[in-house]
Amino acid sequence: MAAADAARQAAPSGLGLDSAGVRQRMVQRLKQEGLSDERVLQALAKVPRHQFVDTALAIQAYEDTSLPIGHGQTISKPSVVGRMIELLFAGQGARQRGELGRVLEIGTGCGYQAAVLAELGRQVVSIERLKPLHDKAALNLASMRGNKIRLIYGDGRLGHAPLAPYDSLVAAAGGEDIPPAWLAQLAPGGRLVAPMAAPGGRGQVLVVVDHVVEEGRSHFVRSTQEAVQFVPLKSGVM
Ligand code: SAH
Repeated sequence: MAAADAARQAAPSGLGLDSAGVRQRMVQRLKQEGLSDERVLQALAKVPRHQFVDTALAIQAYEDTSLPIGHGQTISKPSVVGRMIELLFAGQGARQRGELGRVLEIGTGCGYQAAVLAELGRQVVSIERLKPLHDKAALNLASMRGNKIRLIYGDGRLGHAPLAPYDSLVAAAGGEDIPPAWLAQLAPGGRLVAPMAAPGGRGQVLVVVDHVVEEGRSHFVRSTQEAVQFVPLKSGVM
């Protein structure tokens, strides 16, 4: 039975990946593993992840695993994409609005997470420093993005000032610290979620920063979440 299923899935004409059922099953598994925000689960159920990876890897697209997308980079695990977006939704502004508002994504990669974010925000601005990936994401998103997603080729550590401020900011690559530009471009009530080097150089942790305004004054409240594993946040473009 399993072999027959595998054979059917491997057949190019009948990958079976276009059916919503495959994604629903992935979402059920993610739910069992702890994702709980229905809006996020719905968005994950909607975006065809197999269209963002090479054909040879498409069969693995609905497993909860990161996959290579070329140039030494990877598409993030669906559970991690879901987790980061749940954290964004739990921020003050997003909670009140019921949507993510204007989102800045650092590290477009193949564009998968940008597509998920576009289901949940008003506008998505996504920056990638590797030209071939920026171009690949543009192709991947061409048929599905409408005009909600704006892809930028550049160094995401600088954010993207022309479209700031952002209500939500999410990074798919982790550096030593949170770049100052990200804080400067975060709207009042906004929330940032990013991987960052753990203190003492022990891997990475997910960091949440809220832009809080109290009595007319801004400050940033930082909290540290679980350990994670993201590709490095690098400087400059290539
Ligand atoms: N969100 C992506 C994940 C891509 S992996 C997806 O859904 O597929 C992270 C990406 O961050 C890589 O493509 C890497 O090139 C990019 N990256 C690393 N440092 C960056 C920087 N300073 N600015 C923009 N992108 C960066």
